[in-house]
Amino acid sequence: MVCKGICSRHQAMRPSTGMRYLIGQKRCQVCQIFINWQGWFCPCCGYKLRTKPRNKKFKQQLVLSNNIIKK
Ligand SMILES: [Zn+2]
Ligand SMILES: [Zn+2]
Repeated sequence: MVCKGICSRHQAMRPSTGMRYLIGQKRCQVCQIFINWQGWFCPCCGYKLRTKPRNKKFKQQLVLSNNIIKK
């Protein structure tokens, strides 16, 4: 699992809301970058991408936002 530099081509811009996971951005722990990518694995290093925040507070915000969207 090494970063080959491909990920920089898919690098995601930081959203104004700060809610990267909400708008489909995924985090690669190997490349240490957020990317716009549909797949489950990093196109660069092949590591499984993180799609959910690990922070409990962020998770609550995510649930809250999802509820707002549903309404
Ligand atoms: Zn990479
Ligand atoms: Zn990667």
